[in-house]
Amino acid sequence: MPFAHLGLSAPITQALTDLGYQAPTPIQTKAIPVALAGKNLIAAAQTGTGKTASFVLPILERVIEQQPVRPKRVKALIIAPTRELVLQVEKNIIAYSQHLQINTLAMYGGVDSKQQKQKMLDGIHVLVATPGRLLDMYTQRAVRFDELEVLVLDEADRMLDMGFVDDINRIIERLPEQRQNMLFSATLSNPVRALAKTTIHKPVQISL
Ligand code: AMP
Repeated sequence: MPFAHLGLSAPITQALTDLGYQAPTPIQTKAIPVALAGKNLIAAAQTGTGKTASFVLPILERVIEQQPVRPKRVKALIIAPTRELVLQVEKNIIAYSQHLQINTLAMYGGVDSKQQKQKMLDGIHVLVATPGRLLDMYTQRAVRFDELEVLVLDEADRMLDMGFVDDINRIIERLPEQRQNMLFSATLSNPVRALAKTTIHKPVQISL
């Protein structure tokens, strides 16, 4: 089945063709229509399954529908456990949005925050961040969530293993209540389910 049948529009399917993607992977086939419909979802998917595109493509679709070139506030937030993963997701966003006007930023600790703050001021549609640095930037008022529409928790099991549960909950408390939520995790373990239960209302559950 081609990507266009999942409901993705031309600039996005063109980018996928440019990248040599021929057809969606199983997780993409299941998750993309659910995400495009604006529904909450939780998905059990390992790295290597194509899970990143499952949430990035619907986010891009939503952002291009309605956003100005320089948004005042972040529209979609992806939280991931490590700098490496944040950079990996950012790389995917850049590749998939090559025919779109989308501003994305990777935000992580261990580096000076000045550049990340400046980029935020330029206007960011999609923010990919590690929990600690994100909370720090929020506290410093460098990031605001009042127009946030979509939240993704990527590799949720790893984030819990790394002890980020309190940071994640603190961030979620500050997000607008009306939003779409997606959680991806290699395993839907009990702690992951507990996190999903408190943060994600009536999700569609997807497994391979
Ligand atoms: P992920 O599981 O999201 O880390 O993706 C694993 C790798 O598969 C990445 O290098 C993606 O660029 C690639 N990929 C994702 N979806 C597809 C697809 N439908 N066809 C070919 N490659 C893909």
